[in-house]
Amino acid sequence: MLKEIKISKNFDLTFFNTFRLSAKAQFFVIVKNEDELLAAARWAKAKGLPLAVIGGGSNILLAGKLVKGLVIKISGEKYSVNGNYLSAWAGTSLAKLVKAAESASLSGLEWAVGVPGHLGGAVRGNAGAYGSDIGGQAAAVKVYDLNRGAFFKLKKSRCGFGYRDSVFKQDNSLLIVEADLMMKPGNKAEIRRLTRKNMRHRLQIQPKQPSAGCVFKNLEYDKLLSLNKNLALELRTKGLVRAGKIGVGYLINQLGLKGLSRGHAKISETHANFIVNTGQASSADVDRLIKFVKNRVKIKYKINLEEEIQHFGK
Ligand SMILES: Cc1cc2nc3c(=O)[nH]c(=O)nc-3n(C[C@H](O)[C@H](O)[C@H](O)COP(=O)(O)OP(=O)(O)OC[C@H]3O[C@@H](n4cnc5c(N)ncnc54)[C@H](O)[C@@H]3O)c2cc1C
Repeated sequence: MLKEIKISKNFDLTFFNTFRLSAKAQFFVIVKNEDELLAAARWAKAKGLPLAVIGGGSNILLAGKLVKGLVIKISGEKYSVNGNYLSAWAGTSLAKLVKAAESASLSGLEWAVGVPGHLGGAVRGNAGAYGSDIGGQAAAVKVYDLNRGAFFKLKKSRCGFGYRDSVFKQDNSLLIVEADLMMKPGNKAEIRRLTRKNMRHRLQIQPKQPSAGCVFKNLEYDKLLSLNKNLALELRTKGLVRAGKIGVGYLINQLGLKGLSRGHAKISETHANFIVNTGQASSADVDRLIKFVKNRVKIKYKINLEEEIQHFGK
């Protein structure tokens, strides 16, 4: 028998995206386990409606005022530790997993402190920081495939993890339900020290206003070498290549764009790769800023910036 789920109509998504953009979902449901997810997917299928999932809503830019179809929020913290493995339901917050890893003296997630997403969203976008990412930790990912109507597990080798990329990002029919993370046994005090250091750093460099994190992917040094060799070498000479990447914020800052606004969306003065909502920004405001930055970077540096934030509900 299918689980009973509570589907809401015309649901306000403002507090379900960290940008705090205002939009409604035609239909909305929160699911906390596989049975509820299955029930939601079947409900949408029976009604012939598109469906899209969110986790923490911390990497999305809502496309307009209405998201058509069913929005499924994958929620609920559930994880287990088995030896060096930390396995969790996709709705588990990274914050919870960072704490769980520390308590079990497992190292590998110290970079994730302060990243406000859930495991499913992190796996899809291969979230990362400080030279590490979730793909580096993932041993296997369980998905529900909307096309096949079946659950199955993918080994890491089939997840296609790359810089902020994965097979799940390329195929929206794959809904992530669980991931097994392979951690390293570590020293609890050392794990805590590194986690706190990363958190302190984040608090210094991140804006406090609502945002969806970095708007653009950073530049990969090797790729930049082939696109604009002079720029790549100049940035390397300036010591701006870190873990093979160059922060896009530096270039946006060099163009003098910090503080630029469109409506209530503004390029953060704290970190130029963040766009913040200073009041009642619309997705159109944010979009206009994104296009403007891309255009200016293209003209000045002859490179195309790629967005890290995900347009949602188009
Ligand atoms: C202040 C701030 C700091 C941030 N710092 C970082 C950082 O250091 N590094 C970094 O990588 N990111 C960072 N982010 C971005 C974001 O927090 C991460 O990318 C996070 O992992 C996204 O997870 P989420 O659950 O919020 O995903 P959501 O925003 O809910 O969703 C993102 C995308 O994934 C899809 N999705 C969500 N859940 C699933 C699922 N279960 N199955 C299939 N698809 C799914 C959604 O449809 C959407 O397309 C930051 C964001 C903020 C606001």
